[in-house]
This record gives sequence, C-alpha cells and structure tokens, in this order.
Amino acid sequence: MSFAFQTRLPLSRHEVDRDHTRRVSPTLLADLTSDPGTRVLPVWHGKALVDRSSNGVNLVLASTDVLTPDSLFVYLGLSLATDAPEPAGTPLVTVSVTDAAAKAIEPDESRWEGLRELATVASDRDTGILTEALAVLNWHASHQNCPRCGAETIVEDGGWTRRCPVDGSQIFPRTDPAIIVLVTDNDDRILLGSNAMWENNRYSLLAGFVEPGESLEAAVLREMHEESGLRVTDPVYLGSQPWPFPASIMLGFTARLADGQDGRDMIPDGEEILDLRWFSRDELRASLDSIILPGRSSIARAMVESWLGEQLDHDEQPTVARR
Ligand SMILES: [Zn+2]
Repeated sequence: MSFAFQTRLPLSRHEVDRDHTRRVSPTLLADLTSDPGTRVLPVWHGKALVDRSSNGVNLVLASTDVLTPDSLFVYLGLSLATDAPEPAGTPLVTVSVTDAAAKAIEPDESRWEGLRELATVASDRDTGILTEALAVLNWHASHQNCPRCGAETIVEDGGWTRRCPVDGSQIFPRTDPAIIVLVTDNDDRILLGSNAMWENNRYSLLAGFVEPGESLEAAVLREMHEESGLRVTDPVYLGSQPWPFPASIMLGFTARLADGQDGRDMIPDGEEILDLRWFSRDELRASLDSIILPGRSSIARAMVESWLGEQLDHDEQPTVARR
C-alpha cells in the first residue's frame, strides 16, 4: 500500500491519543468535568460549530459547562496537536446537544457545519475528532436497546460501551465495512458507474457492503459482478477511510478485469447502478465538464486521482455507499 495514498484521505487524518485505558476509570466523568482544561466538541444533527473568521477553519470547542447530567458524552482522548488553540494533552469530550442547547451555544445555524464540508479544509486534529465523534454518536443513536432482551441500555466506559442492566450484555461500537474498487481493463481504463440515487451524470467507482462471513476480497469479486455483470480478479488493498454517514469504513481496492471477460459485456444491475462507462485518462479529462465526479473528501476521489496521476480541480459533493 502507498503511504502517500493513505495520507491523502481527508477523514483518515487524526491527531488524538484515544487514551483507551482511562475510559474504564469509575471517576472519569467527574475528573473530566472538574478539569478546567477539558474541552467539549458539541455535535448538533451531525454538525459542529466552526470558526472561519480567524486563521484557517477551526472547530469551536466549549467548556464543560455545556454538559448536563443527562448528556450523552463520549471521551475522545487527548489532543496531540501542537498547532491547535488548546495545548497538547488537552482532554477532549464530545456531546450530542439538543436543539435548545445548540441554540444557547450558537444561534446562527450557518456556523454549524458538516464533516463533508470541513474534511478538506480543517486540520488533522479537528477532522479526526469530528470523524471519531460522529461515528460513535451515530452508533449510540441506533443502539439504545439491548439486542437480546430489548431493555434500555446504560452508557459506560466513557461512552465506549453500552450495558444491559437486565442480562448484563455489553455492546460495543460497530462500524460497517464497505469495499470500493478501482477496476481496470487491459487498456488501463477504469470502470465508473452512475448510481440510481444520484444525478444521472454523476459517476464514481463501484462499491458495496461486505456481507457477514465474507472476506474483503470475496466481497470485491461479488459486488463487482452484481453491479456490473463482469468478473474481476486480483483484488489489492490500497487503504481505508472512515465514512461515518452513518457508520461505514470504506476499504479501497484495485482489481482487474478477469481473463476472458469482455469489458463491453457489462450489465448495470438496474437497481443500484443505472449506467456504466469505461474511461481512459484522456477520456476522463475530456469529460470533466459533462460528468460529476466524487467529492474531494471521498476515498473514491483519491483513488481516481491516484490512477490519473494528478489532482483534479473539480468540485462536487462526495458520494456515499448505500445498502
Ligand atoms: Zn438485555
């Protein structure tokens, strides 16, 4: 794998020590709230408060005054950044805030921004903590009840565990692996598809969720066949990027058209993928005015640019893998 490729993935950047041993401390919440240095990342409907008025684009972190006894809070760890407003070693917490609490913190809704917009302009530290915060808060939002008995679960370990008070089951944050694949043919053209849920001129790499009991490599072969009708071979892992919209991690692979396959025989599945096209590098460059490529924060964009050998000055919203 190319280290340079991994460093180009906006949401894979991080500058926090997750400090997992402290999560289990029984006095964690009291210790964090009594420490005047602790900073809180409030998250409101997936958005964070942003300061674009000073140098660069920075998340606005609050004091622990915004925490209430019933706040869903998660301990994110210790900031490692030396160029952030807070000193290295600052404990960081995230909290999901209500509409009223968000309004009290900052009533101007335009100052609350989403991760996709921030991911290409915010620092490694800020992008990393917002990605971590969204991923774990999204998990909490959909795992409030015990999967065995349905009882309401209790948050423990600094927000990294939920426990059932009836049967003692512990549940831990999950993430859904999805593969995304740069398929090439013998002429080194790539296969792009247009998803039924997008505008009809938006094209991206094919992607899909890994099924239970399936290797990543098997998922690459299966998904490419399901979505295009083509058999591919030689899946090679490139790198990964968390994609907390709401709970994915995107695993990038290359693969090539299998021997004996004719790229013209592709059949879009008609449900997820409505159109498929092969692009040479020249054809892709020539198409930039007529097609929409995946957004700058997506792993798909980085994979296409890596194949192309250059960064594209082409702005659009990112794509997202869907079930
Ligand atoms: Zn239970």
